Amino acid sequence: MGVKGHVRSWALVRESLFVRLVASLYHTAVDLSILPLPNFGLTSTAGWRILSAKIRVVYVRNILQIDVEDWYCDLELRDWSRCEPRVVGATEKVLSLLKDARTKATFFVLGYVAERFPDLVRSIEDQGHEVASHGYAHRRISDQNPREFEDDVKRSVAILEGITGKKVKGYRAPQFTVVKETLWALDVLRKLGMEYDSSIFPVKTPLYGIPDAPLYPYAIESGNGKEGSGFMEIPLSIYTAPFLGKRIPVAGGFYFRFFPYYFIRHALKSINRRGNVAVCYIHPWEFDPDKPRMEGLRWYHYYRIAATEKKFRKLLADFTFTSTEDWIGHEGRR
Ligand SMILES: [Zn+2]
Repeated sequence: MGVKGHVRSWALVRESLFVRLVASLYHTAVDLSILPLPNFGLTSTAGWRILSAKIRVVYVRNILQIDVEDWYCDLELRDWSRCEPRVVGATEKVLSLLKDARTKATFFVLGYVAERFPDLVRSIEDQGHEVASHGYAHRRISDQNPREFEDDVKRSVAILEGITGKKVKGYRAPQFTVVKETLWALDVLRKLGMEYDSSIFPVKTPLYGIPDAPLYPYAIESGNGKEGSGFMEIPLSIYTAPFLGKRIPVAGGFYFRFFPYYFIRHALKSINRRGNVAVCYIHPWEFDPDKPRMEGLRWYHYYRIAATEKKFRKLLADFTFTSTEDWIGHEGRR
């Protein structure tokens, strides 16, 4: 099936009754339960519960993360040099959207990009965002041994710290490849003095995920048995479908482009209503609908890319976000 065929069949799935019906009915039901609040009074337990849930949606601070890589970084490294760099313009677009919304985020910058565009990293830092590591060469951890992985992370951290003069605290694996087989990567990160990882997707997909991993940030016990290492895992948000109990990734990248915005909003609200933090991510190339078509990049690199900016603006208007570092500092260690 060609790209068009894939796009058409996915468009059918997107439009399917199941997704639309479940999301809209559930969302409407929750909203309607809030509407008659004054009628049954705040003294009722149900009233208080609904009101406090509503307040939590407004006040929970969520985590926003930007994976700064160029549009071709999912290709083999040897092909990168023949691709036109577009990461600066695309990242500046994200920065300006965040500035408009007065929102801070974590930028996991690829070492390869930082090396070529140090001013971009300075600009991210100057605007008050957190600069963290996305590794150097965008290799899946599953394709590396521990030694290679350590060298890749070290190289990226040295470049980033050389530019900002600040300690890099966090790491995001290319394609979320901290999976069951590569959990040793967390020991390497801790050994390098990192304070958190944000790479575990608690869901099963063909490319990544740990389906039974915890859904919300947690401290990871030190591998050598010492207490108080303070290293944290910040998993990516998923939505647990009511009744089915099935975990659905919603909070970034392709999923953010694929699902209708009202479904994403409903999913994040349902996380916040329980007082939990949502962790969302996006790539600058997802704001660049004019990026070249290239053999080797899959249909999902392009799917509904023209709509990202509009949806992202809505997301920033509807929810409160901050950087990972800021969230850990204020809420994470409670
Ligand atoms: Zn990446």
